[in-house]
Amino acid sequence: AHAEAALRQAKSGGERLSFYSPEQNAAMMAKLELESLLRRACEEQQFVLYYQPKIDLGSGRIAGAEALIRWIHPERGMVSPAQFIPLAEESGLILAIGAWVIASVCAQQAAWQTAGVPVVPVALNLSAAQFGQGDLAAQVASQLAAHRLGSDLVELELTESLVMRDPAGAGQTMHQLRALGLHLSLDDFGTGYSSLAHLKRFPFNSVKIDRAFVTDITTNPDDAAIASAIIAMSHNLRMLVIAEGVETAEQLELLRSKGCDLIQGYYFSPPVSAAAFAAMLSAGQGIALPLAPGQQRSV
Ligand code: C2E
Ligand code: MG
Ligand code: MG
Ligand code: MG
Repeated sequence: AHAEAALRQAKSGGERLSFYSPEQNAAMMAKLELESLLRRACEEQQFVLYYQPKIDLGSGRIAGAEALIRWIHPERGMVSPAQFIPLAEESGLILAIGAWVIASVCAQQAAWQTAGVPVVPVALNLSAAQFGQGDLAAQVASQLAAHRLGSDLVELELTESLVMRDPAGAGQTMHQLRALGLHLSLDDFGTGYSSLAHLKRFPFNSVKIDRAFVTDITTNPDDAAIASAIIAMSHNLRMLVIAEGVETAEQLELLRSKGCDLIQGYYFSPPVSAAAFAAMLSAGQGIALPLAPGQQRSV
């Protein structure tokens, strides 16, 4: 809407057109076009969910997954959420998209259960606007009930910036979600400005170390120190730790040696289609780890 107004002003303003370079104008047009395509995508259900396994470093087994949205445009092909989620948030379309994600994860888990797939909890990502609505917990509860699904099979990922936008309101909604039995994960931790001690005011069950600290963890001692500190502090606060973006065996071993509970990343698997993920679960896929007695966890 902001871009639209700016564009109108640029068009009608005559001389004011000079405020906008041809590049800026082109960028605004592209954004407006993408927004109208996104609106149509919502009407025509052009979204699918992909699933990325989370591996328990105690057992080497798949202990969960993250549902990641994909937009399959008829001509443009697969569009990454990094491209359209910010626009969806700006335009308000994120409410419809977010509701679709909640309903779809519940429907998928129920369908897998019925089909005899050995299901694991699936986490979905939430946006600030969904918290602002005020009925998020009721919305989740109604989807769980509609699909006769236990609340232990759906988890929620929230970023620090989401929580900090309206700490009191977010905290209240989080307590409602916890009361339903849902697990809450602090996503992308380390990229914001809050300390874990500060975030402890909020009822998180787990912390996800952002990929930014994992990428160079084996070569950059500062990143390794940050990861160690996050793991130790999280454990002291009785939260599990998941490392994002693990791509190599060396990263995995280092994280494991530091006591990290779970990993997610291309090393084991990229996000895959629902059918491919169900096949992984049914085949009991996992990774072979050296035995680590006492580290066995069921998450
Ligand atoms: P995120 O929640 O932090 O998700 C992790 C992102 O890292 C995913 O990108 C995933 O594909 C990518 N990733 C996982 N393992 C690796 C790895 O080993 N290496 C590298 N380089 N990348 C890895 P994706 O699927 O493109 O999603 C990007 C972001 O879009 C997500 O970040 C999340 O913030 C947002 N998003 C995705 N789906 C949804 C959704 O349904 N709702 C909302 N509100 N946001 C979503
Ligand atoms: Mg996430
Ligand atoms: Mg993340
Ligand atoms: Mg991240």
